Amino acid sequence: MDFSKFKKSTTSVWGGESDLKVSGAVTSPIVNSVAFAYNDVDHWHEVSLGKAEGYIYSRNTNPTVAVLEEKIRLLEGAEAATSFATGMAAISNTLYTFLTAGKRVVSQKDNYGGTSKIFLDFLPLYNVEVQLCDTTDFDLFEKEIAKGCDLVYLETPTNPTLKVVDIKRLAAAAKKVGAIVVVDNTFATPINQNPLALGADLVIHSATKFLCGHSDAMGGVVAGKKELVQKIYQYREINGASLQADPAYMIARGMKTLELRIERQNASALKIANYLKAHSKVSDVFYPGLTTHPGHEIAKQQMSGFGGIMSFALDGGYEHVKKLLTTLKLVHLAASLGSVSTLAGPPRTTSHVELTEAQRKLLGIPESLIRYSVGIENVDDLLQDLDTALASL
Ligand SMILES: *Cc1c(COP(=O)(O)O)cnc(C)c1O
Repeated sequence: MDFSKFKKSTTSVWGGESDLKVSGAVTSPIVNSVAFAYNDVDHWHEVSLGKAEGYIYSRNTNPTVAVLEEKIRLLEGAEAATSFATGMAAISNTLYTFLTAGKRVVSQKDNYGGTSKIFLDFLPLYNVEVQLCDTTDFDLFEKEIAKGCDLVYLETPTNPTLKVVDIKRLAAAAKKVGAIVVVDNTFATPINQNPLALGADLVIHSATKFLCGHSDAMGGVVAGKKELVQKIYQYREINGASLQADPAYMIARGMKTLELRIERQNASALKIANYLKAHSKVSDVFYPGLTTHPGHEIAKQQMSGFGGIMSFALDGGYEHVKKLLTTLKLVHLAASLGSVSTLAGPPRTTSHVELTEAQRKLLGIPESLIRYSVGIENVDDLLQDLDTALASL
């Protein structure tokens, strides 16, 4: 099918599915087969060399996994996509594919906690030079890129303080020195933001979050230039962080309602952020949809919606954080985001638990912060829940 004439909601439902239907089934099957058999040894050999289309062994490729990869490839407007057991596997395999001894990477201070750990603790062990810039100091960023580097790694909006990074500007700077530009698009999803269209070479998703959307399967995906995706695929098939058919099916199933969920979450989050901003017990709200957010203008240019996640700080510090979280009824206090149910927690027990308090301080993450990932519940119920809990402080 030619998907270029369809909108994203249509592609989310139909993308990747058409080839696989069995006996008229209206969903693609879960193919839980480790290996794929051939009648003809020469044909088998051709496929195993990549000279003919087909499946060999599920650590490499699998028909159910391919459905998911194709959906994300289409939604991101990419040449190719490949998948992983988790979002962190997608990130680490991508970084280790391109960052070998002597290479230099420029990134931002605000990255997902696990990603920061790779930059701070792991890559230096392999003699990779890591330069982390103040996330929104784009002049400094450009200067560091211009010194020469092999890879520029961005994440926007950031976790958990929702800073907005100017993808177009930094991708242009990276092009001048021939660096590969990678963007973690987990928070925005392909519905709200398409980094490849802004100049990135590769886009990464933790599919565990909004793409799956139901907190019941883990996965990761990288999409982008074919030549680059191919290299990452070859690294992953040997390192073995492959996605299984069962979670691939569940993520692809979740993706059929992606646009419906994201539209609802965009709208609810904006309402809730405005409510919190006006509340006397809330000292700070971080949400790129607020006109007062320092990254709002860039967000307006590069995003078509501002996403379902915000964070806010309370007067009264960590004791108030604990009281509020345990008074709220319509949240799971849990370390994930992007689900149908609202999830909340302090970054020091969720996204940035891997880091020490000193490392969190270095990254500018207040200990009294709450990350709030809006679900698809009725927004008035969520506002009432917050109102009651805030009144109890
Ligand atoms: C959760 C997350 C990851 C890691 O994904 P996993 O599937 O948990 O491994 C990476 N980046 C961002 C922005 C995330 O929110």
